[in-house]
Amino acid sequence: MVVTPICNFCAKTGVLCKKCKQKLREGKITEVEVTVSKAFAKAEQKYPKLLQNVTLDRAHSLDNSIVLLTRNGKNLIENEELKYTIETEIRKPIEIVERKADTRKTFAEFFAPLDIVEIDQIFVPPEGDVELKITLKGDPELLRFPLDQLKQIAELISKNPVRLELIA
Ligand SMILES: [Zn+2]
Repeated sequence: MVVTPICNFCAKTGVLCKKCKQKLREGKITEVEVTVSKAFAKAEQKYPKLLQNVTLDRAHSLDNSIVLLTRNGKNLIENEELKYTIETEIRKPIEIVERKADTRKTFAEFFAPLDIVEIDQIFVPPEGDVELKITLKGDPELLRFPLDQLKQIAELISKNPVRLELIA
């Protein structure tokens, strides 16, 4: 069964339980994620096999599209019909970012074909929060998203503030 940020029952019925409502109120999940979760549950009725192992981790609105962070989301990338079904349901184009077990690998794929030169952890005073500084090398024209959007998605992936640097 497809796994989403809200529980299965809520995704299917479209009505949020107490627990999911609280998550939403506390900002642990967003309205966009609720909407996409429902669309996934609906699409699953049509394509149960294609979605059975898919996990939707996060969904994030960018300008005109919605970026989905997925695990085992290969079918969403490869099956145009499935992708289209979900896009029709949420009335926006989706971009799939597949998440690997390892954050560094996720980043490597996400920023490809640019190379990651290094990822530095910067401790920001006064609380010592960790900010990631990711240095990329290559032609920015080849990136999947504009830099400011890349930064937002990278922050979703790492759960840290991210600073991107490009070197030629
Ligand atoms: Zn629920």
